[in-house]
Amino acid sequence: MPPSTFLNIKQHTPTIGAWKWMLEDDSMLWSQEIFEILGLDSTTFIPTFSTFITRIHPQDENQFLEAIETTVSNNTLLNIHVKIKTAMDNYLTIELQATLDNQNNIMEGTFHNINELTQCQHALVKTKKLFETSQEISHIASWEWDLYNNSFTFSKEIKNMLQLTNQEYQQLSHQEFKDRFIHATLQSRREQSINDLIEYDIPCELEYSIINTQKEKVHVKEKCLVQRDDSNDPHFVYGTIANITSTYHLQKRLENAYLELQTYVDKVEELSITDPLTSLYNRRFFNEILNKETHRAIRNKTNFSFAMLDIDYFKLYNDTYGHLAGDKALTTVASIIKGTFCRGSDFTFRLGGEEFGVIFSDDANSISQLEILRNNIEQANILHEKNDISEFITISIGVTTFHGKSPYDINKIIKQADEALYEAKNSGRNQVVFKKLL
Ligand code: GH3
Ligand code: MG
Ligand code: MG
Repeated sequence: MPPSTFLNIKQHTPTIGAWKWMLEDDSMLWSQEIFEILGLDSTTFIPTFSTFITRIHPQDENQFLEAIETTVSNNTLLNIHVKIKTAMDNYLTIELQATLDNQNNIMEGTFHNINELTQCQHALVKTKKLFETSQEISHIASWEWDLYNNSFTFSKEIKNMLQLTNQEYQQLSHQEFKDRFIHATLQSRREQSINDLIEYDIPCELEYSIINTQKEKVHVKEKCLVQRDDSNDPHFVYGTIANITSTYHLQKRLENAYLELQTYVDKVEELSITDPLTSLYNRRFFNEILNKETHRAIRNKTNFSFAMLDIDYFKLYNDTYGHLAGDKALTTVASIIKGTFCRGSDFTFRLGGEEFGVIFSDDANSISQLEILRNNIEQANILHEKNDISEFITISIGVTTFHGKSPYDINKIIKQADEALYEAKNSGRNQVVFKKLL
């Protein structure tokens, strides 16, 4: 399939999904994308970790279980490529990335279909091999020009390159070679270059195309050398002409393939759902989840809360301790957020910079849950001497609750939480402010 068609299809096919595995009871949560990638029906198929394992290719099973084991015992990032069986009984190569929560209860991460990417890479390796082989077998013709008597001779390989008859080859003069096979504009460039070699010893290396007697375009690379006599006058000029047509086309194909691959890689990056620094979900995925959760709440007549969190005086933290320390603090804050909101139905995001988001079902008082989070962060004792309100890093939180009343504009939910956050900042920071949705 041409890469462009493949890309068009890709844009309408999910490649990345998210999953959670509750270690204690074998149960798993899959986002809709995983069902779609595997061709399974999300209304009837109930994912569990045991059935997940049975879908892994037997050759990859041990490696998969070992990687899981390492992640659980060392609390490291899971990052593995395995083949997995679809509903159609064929195998796809997928990349699984996941982390464990602080209590080692939940493993959560992404499920990335990299089947086409892997095939694309294999194809590239094949093309590259072909390219190298054809480079080895390209034929080289040579010529010799005796400047003393102005005689010009071509080696017989030129016969093949130009598709000449024996007679044509025997009668081939330099003049005919130029006039008949090289385009006029290229002729003068070539002459100039050979003159520069003879007069000033400027290296002469040319690439041009020739139209042979069969009207085929032949890409050639020509290199020339000059040989001088004892008084340093030029005597001979030698040239080699290599037919690089096949390598030229392969090179163009290779360049295009790399370009397509790069576009694909960019696309995949764009489709990624996690923030690389904190491994929380990113802003793009937030928009998707907020939308889905809003519709789910309307459908099921349930509630959920959305909280926006922002670190207090974080610019001053960077200014005092440096950007690297700032990044580390962001990671710590992110893991506390994730650790505090760790139920299967909770979603935690990095919305940008030092701003985070939490979507959680509102079965208890949302303010008290966020109070726990606010407190956990302050109690982490991340020293912040420029913070006005505490000697440690603190956060301000704005929250609102959506009551599943249709129709609703999700921008209003964001706006309301944002205004609550603004109020929390203005009322002295390090606090939770709730604002009712109007
Ligand atoms: P406020 O209490 O009003 O929120 O004050 P603030 O200083 O936290 O707010 P402001 O928006 O002025 O500054 C946010 C700072 O967050 C600015 C920027 O240096 C920092 N920041 C944003 N993204 C990153 C990041 O990825 N790494 C680091 N280290 N700092 C970041
Ligand atoms: Mg901010
Ligand atoms: Mg801030």
